[in-house]
Amino acid sequence: MRRVAILLATLLATPASAADLLIHGGPILTMVGERPQTVAAVVVTGGKIAFAGPLAQAQRLAGPGTQQLDLKGRTLIPGLVDAHSHLMMAVDLARRVNVSGAPVGDVASIAGLVDKLAAAEPGLKLAAGAWLVGWGYDASLLSDARELTRRDLDARFPDRPVLVMHVSGHGAVLNSAGLAALGITPDTKAPDGGLIHREADGRTPNGQLWESALMLAGPALKPPGRAERLTNLAAVQQLYARNGYTLANDGFTSLADLDLLQTAAAQGRLVLDIVALPSFVDMPKWLGKPQYSFGQWHNRLKLQGIKITQDGSPQGRTAWLSKPFLVPGPNGEADWRAQPIQSFPAFLATTRAATNAGLQLFIHANGDAAIDDVITAVDTLKLPPDHRSIVIHSQVQRPDQLPRYATLGITPSYFTNHAYFWGDVHRRQLGEPRAAHISPIASALALGLKASNHSDFIVTPLDPMFILWTSMARTTRSGTVLGPDQRLTAWNGLKALTLNPAWAYREEGRRGSIEAGKLADFTLLSANPLVTPVAGIRGIKVVGTMKEGRFLWEAGR
Ligand SMILES: [Zn+2]
Repeated sequence: MRRVAILLATLLATPASAADLLIHGGPILTMVGERPQTVAAVVVTGGKIAFAGPLAQAQRLAGPGTQQLDLKGRTLIPGLVDAHSHLMMAVDLARRVNVSGAPVGDVASIAGLVDKLAAAEPGLKLAAGAWLVGWGYDASLLSDARELTRRDLDARFPDRPVLVMHVSGHGAVLNSAGLAALGITPDTKAPDGGLIHREADGRTPNGQLWESALMLAGPALKPPGRAERLTNLAAVQQLYARNGYTLANDGFTSLADLDLLQTAAAQGRLVLDIVALPSFVDMPKWLGKPQYSFGQWHNRLKLQGIKITQDGSPQGRTAWLSKPFLVPGPNGEADWRAQPIQSFPAFLATTRAATNAGLQLFIHANGDAAIDDVITAVDTLKLPPDHRSIVIHSQVQRPDQLPRYATLGITPSYFTNHAYFWGDVHRRQLGEPRAAHISPIASALALGLKASNHSDFIVTPLDPMFILWTSMARTTRSGTVLGPDQRLTAWNGLKALTLNPAWAYREEGRRGSIEAGKLADFTLLSANPLVTPVAGIRGIKVVGTMKEGRFLWEAGR
């Protein structure tokens, strides 16, 4: 009875039409429809959008208790949906050294990289014999025009084990103390699908481990303790929020990371919606276990599907190609095409086990040969309609593969930041036609594919306006336009960061556009991308992020 009385009192005090929040005073990009569409006002009730349209109509829904948010000229877009990044990697970077080149970091040479590690070492207060770990190494950004080896690190770190992760996450360079700590000797053979690079004698490891050989470095990459990781997770969510994301992705979730995310969710520590993709490596440990249920939100965490990695990266020359790179392989191999992570029968068995359990496929495939594996697998498995299999990166894609995607219901998530960061490398390593067709997002959209676009953070920065700019400009570092016919309009570029990734997560009914009934998740921008010249797009700032009608943060507050 008491509860009924309270309910009645609440109903009487609040007119049924009274809204919580009325937003107006700036361009509001709905992302509804094929052509740019803006409205003057949005009304929010109970964390959801109640109305989007003309201001006069919106005002009729407001009551005396309705808060007003005047955008003061700022642009409102739907909360950004992160199509692919590595949230949990960011969680573990707090005690690792950023040795990235510009603009993620400031390292410009091998000597500079070693200096950066040495300068950071005292502040980390590492125990004797503990690993010093760097991340973001990319030889293509260094002035030396060669790869880092153990010898570069040995000079400064004769005793402490050191590991430097490659920016792609697919390789690392260790010093001699590091190799010794892991028991890697001239007699150590690389595991299947892995590479241990050798010195001129053909035997002595030069320090570089690639692909599955990286698993040998497990002890160096052991994450920090649970309490520290939970603290870091709060900071990392803030970082995503400051970049405008209201949904963040963890694009390759280990079992340990999955358990940490579930703990954080159960403790109410998630302020963003987080989509996790448990990795195929740990599949036997989670597949079919009731505590790992897919497709449902639990306290802002959803397990969406399985992540399978089928090759490496084009800049690391580990993307598996049907036609060779124009340069030798990482070990000087002629006619180098790289290799798959799993043989096709093993890959097919993994995809079959996952899809038999009803899981959505998210497959990392960069090279066209790896993409062929995805196409053949999806064709062979005869998946149910609307399976929404997603190819993460899908970068070195042949034109003939796109109609196959359309026929089979495969959707690409592209990585147009590559055009800027490694576009010049791709021209050299792949040749002009393949480089120009990298991340062919305009072609994909023209075929009706709901292509998304991503940062692959920590590989490139989260900054969504930088991603939008690379999809609109496709300008390399040296200023060449890579594949001018693949440049997007601002409207389509924003779709690839909002509605299309929402669709990939089966969330298009809840987010990705500003429409009545959807979550009141919004991102505020300093300028309207629809009327900003292409060159100015990367200068637009995210100035606020709202989750379900409340600011997660706002610039200047
Ligand atoms: Zn990734």
